[in-house]
Amino acid sequence: MVEVRLEGVTKKFGRVVAVNNVTLTFPDGRFSAILGPSGSGKTTLLYLIAGIYKPTSGRIFFGDREVTNLPPKERNIGLVFQNYALYPHMTVYDNIAFPLRLKKLPEREIDQRVHEVAKLLRIEELLNRYPSQLSGGQQQRVALARALVKQPDVLLLDEPLSNLDALLRLTIRTELKKLQSKLGITAIHVTHDQAEALSIADTIVVIDTGRIQQVGSPEDVYHRPRNLFVAGFIGSPPANMLPGVIERSNGNVYVKVAGARFTPREEHVRVISEAGLDRVIIVFRPEHAKLRYEPANSGLTVPAEVYVVEPLGKENIVSLLVAENLVKIVAPPDVKPEPGEKLYITVPLERILLFDPDTQLNLE
Ligand code: ATP
Repeated sequence: MVEVRLEGVTKKFGRVVAVNNVTLTFPDGRFSAILGPSGSGKTTLLYLIAGIYKPTSGRIFFGDREVTNLPPKERNIGLVFQNYALYPHMTVYDNIAFPLRLKKLPEREIDQRVHEVAKLLRIEELLNRYPSQLSGGQQQRVALARALVKQPDVLLLDEPLSNLDALLRLTIRTELKKLQSKLGITAIHVTHDQAEALSIADTIVVIDTGRIQQVGSPEDVYHRPRNLFVAGFIGSPPANMLPGVIERSNGNVYVKVAGARFTPREEHVRVISEAGLDRVIIVFRPEHAKLRYEPANSGLTVPAEVYVVEPLGKENIVSLLVAENLVKIVAPPDVKPEPGEKLYITVPLERILLFDPDTQLNLE
């Protein structure tokens, strides 16, 4: 087991900077997820750690060992890809045994290790089959077994669940998490699926345009997004954002929004005053707002007009217009207002985040 450390790592493809000056540690024995939109540099980052790509500049360490210039086979990693990449002409047994045969281990030891890992992944009864005779979920278990049989220091997973159907994805994701904590292996998992990342990982690395946007626990990135990108990317439906104007009168600071105004929290007032801000972006999550027929006397209250209601069974997603901005609210199933109805959206003060529109940073 080792921690994986990147120091000022950049990867360019011609003029495209796929990974931009990344300094980052993936902790030893923990499950980390690299999360970002399409084209953000996730796979490039993983391939740099794997040694499939060499950095244009910067250094990579596994524990104390520098691996920057080592090829993948000298890094002791296990790699699992989205498309499983099993050898079709080999049985499951031979697929799993393959990396050990490359290492020229004695057949007796190979046999013992293949059976051990097959038991761990509950695929013992499949050992004599060929990949074409397996379901997608079974193939992915075999790919995992092949990655783990080498007893790698680091397990690297490139969208390993995205070819599976929704139900199987949930099952395998639970198994993967259980397996990782049982083995205590350092795992790094690339995904664009935030629910998958938040549910599986101890540490989330949010990346956009090749730059790290935030590193933190699932709670951190959800409750304390560092910037507007993370606030808008994490959460489903995404966080609501409204432009606010700062008003100062009689020594008090107010935020004006959509014809209403509120007094922000003390910490916010302090930062607004220190930075001399005139504008802010108000951010709140759809699940933290309520619909009411009367304005509330504390927190944020803004008038809104119902636009669309989407019933999801356990809840309704209500879209409303606040001035010209579209805002989404997660409401209980019995709250089903009619389109065109005029209501108020209320958000308690402690659920309101404020961001600087210029730096895009969270004011906390
Ligand atoms: P996705 O979720 O769509 O797989 P990603 O976040 O994994 O995306 P990368 O594949 O790492 O993103 O790509 C990051 C950027 O680098 C993109 O602009 C991509 O077009 C570019 N890129 C990636 N690989 C290469 C390559 N081999 N040659 C040239 N450009 C590349």
